[in-house]
Amino acid sequence: MDVARLTRLLEGWGEPAYRITQARQAQRAGAVSWSDVTAFPRVLRTRLDQELPLWSGEISARAESTDATVKWGLRGEDGTFWEAVLIAHARGRRTLCVSSQGGCALACRFCATGAMGPGRDLAASEIIDQALLAAVEADAQGSRLTNVVYMGMGEPLQNADAVLDAARWLTAADGLGLSARRVAISTVGWVPGISRLTRDPLPVRLAISLHAADDETRSELMPINVRYPIANLLAACRRYRDTTGRRVFIEYLLLDGVNDDPIDARRLAALLRDGDFHVNLIEYNPTSGPYRASPPERRERFAEALAAEGLRPSIRHSRGADIAAACGQLAGDG
Ligand code: SF4
Repeated sequence: MDVARLTRLLEGWGEPAYRITQARQAQRAGAVSWSDVTAFPRVLRTRLDQELPLWSGEISARAESTDATVKWGLRGEDGTFWEAVLIAHARGRRTLCVSSQGGCALACRFCATGAMGPGRDLAASEIIDQALLAAVEADAQGSRLTNVVYMGMGEPLQNADAVLDAARWLTAADGLGLSARRVAISTVGWVPGISRLTRDPLPVRLAISLHAADDETRSELMPINVRYPIANLLAACRRYRDTTGRRVFIEYLLLDGVNDDPIDARRLAALLRDGDFHVNLIEYNPTSGPYRASPPERRERFAEALAAEGLRPSIRHSRGADIAAACGQLAGDG
């Protein structure tokens, strides 16, 4: 729902501002178009039908994985395409992986979105609509949307205003009412954005896609590292931790023969020694790029080497890989 346009229309027609809350409540209840927004007078519904769509992204594709993960392809009125993924976990938990841009300029070499090239920033309402769609789907699955992670298409901290506005709504009592601890913003290391997050009072989680423990390997995988090398990035993380008191989550994608040697694990542990970090090791999902996932035995050796250095990593297994919905696979091909 394009809130800026809707606000202008409602003001022009002398309608009260609470109509926006009513419209969002109707979306949350599964309304498909303005005619389903029964809290509105019929005349208003008809007028809105002619002016703008209720949902800001039209669903152009929907795929469901064998593990119940759902991926949507969404298209804006200007043709911009983005994807949202609802990941199914055990015990009814559901995590939305939300997109913040319709492409990405940062060109990480393992990422299908990076191969698409740049796309425009999504508006806060385009991000919120992904969450509403996911909440309705989670209900239909007999479960509940419990977490939102900004790990879909785009670098969220390059679009920090909209990302934080949407996060405020996700955590507001009259929004989705999620705990801020269940909303995570994941960055490849956009240092000015980390500083911005450090100053923002919203206590969301910060996750860093580190993926390498030395600058040479990281710059090869992620060109952003040339601009903000590991030392600068981790210094920004420590300032975040010192200011907010919150721990930082380090995401580390295991790539066969690239960054998964026990020596890399020891380097990683040395980098993280002075700080409150938690490491998540992530299974890689193949894209058309040159990388392969680390085999299970290399993954185990890496995790053991970290544990020997005093870190207790979690291993994140892939979900939705059969519908190209897993980490690094979102490519706007719907
Ligand atoms: S990993 Fe994130 S920042 Fe890197 S290219 Fe993909 S979407 Fe962009």
